[in-house]
Amino acid sequence: MANLNIQWLEAAHHWEGREGQQPRWLILHGTAGFHRAYDCAAFFADPATQASAHYIIGLDGEIYQCVSEDDAAWANGAVTGPAGTGGDSVHHDAWWSDLGLNPNLVTIAIEHIKPSTDNSDELTEAQKRASFQLIKDICQRWGIPKRYADARGGITGHFSMDPVNRTGCPGPYPWDELWSFLNKNEGDQKMGIPNGWKDDGKTLIAPNGVKVVQGFRDYVLAHAWHPGNWPLESEHGATPLEISNPSLGGGTQQRFRWTTLEWTPAKGVFEAWSGQEWIKLRSEYDRLTGQVKQLQDQLAAEKGKNHAIEVEKLKQQLAQYQQVAKQALTALQSIK
Ligand SMILES: [Zn+2]
Repeated sequence: MANLNIQWLEAAHHWEGREGQQPRWLILHGTAGFHRAYDCAAFFADPATQASAHYIIGLDGEIYQCVSEDDAAWANGAVTGPAGTGGDSVHHDAWWSDLGLNPNLVTIAIEHIKPSTDNSDELTEAQKRASFQLIKDICQRWGIPKRYADARGGITGHFSMDPVNRTGCPGPYPWDELWSFLNKNEGDQKMGIPNGWKDDGKTLIAPNGVKVVQGFRDYVLAHAWHPGNWPLESEHGATPLEISNPSLGGGTQQRFRWTTLEWTPAKGVFEAWSGQEWIKLRSEYDRLTGQVKQLQDQLAAEKGKNHAIEVEKLKQQLAQYQQVAKQALTALQSIK
């Protein structure tokens, strides 16, 4: 973690792992009480406290981590109010209920120490700097879009999912400064648009003219993407998404020269386990090629015997196997 001094004090409660999910949103909170990050961390460490968060940022910029990012914190409580557009103290952002998941499984929670019990304090300069840097660091490591949250991910406050009880969480936060900080630093981090590519704010176009859009575009922009790692095809649906991992179900994928990006409703955007998939496809290819050879031999032998019906049946079988082998070969060539 770059230039961040983070203390560790483990919270008493969290959910182990994320049930196969990964963080796609960052949720900002205010503590509505406490003066030091340590005090809040000690509160979370008490087994009687039925709450936790991944990080707490003190007034002096000190950061405590209480839950591993690989685990889900007990941070967000229930999704309340009717679905709609959040931020109006009435509606929650519709994607939280559309997800059909515990939001803690797909979020990282950052608490900001605010001594006022109504969260009305502004962040201190030190607290703001630490918050911005921590957010940038987390976004880069998890590929979380560095912008205000929408259905595909991003950054928002607790009010986004719980307008009934947490409309004042985190309270005042310098959102506009956050966006300009996150964008200004893109260049320094060698992130953003890869050299030689073009982007109009919605569509990213590689030097070979192939487009990358939506979540895959966000992913490329949020990572140190090699300019030579061009997309070889457009994003398309695939069921199953991976032959080697049928449990993923269907989704979309786009193959690049050295990477395959995939998306499922449950997991969001992620990099495919290409090696695993390659090995599975190669073994299928070898097996099917063997079967074709065997059937050809059998056919040749049957021809000599002049069993017309048998021969016809074998011919049909052979044509089927050849078709499957051809598909496997096409798939192999495309993943490189
Ligand atoms: Zn909160």
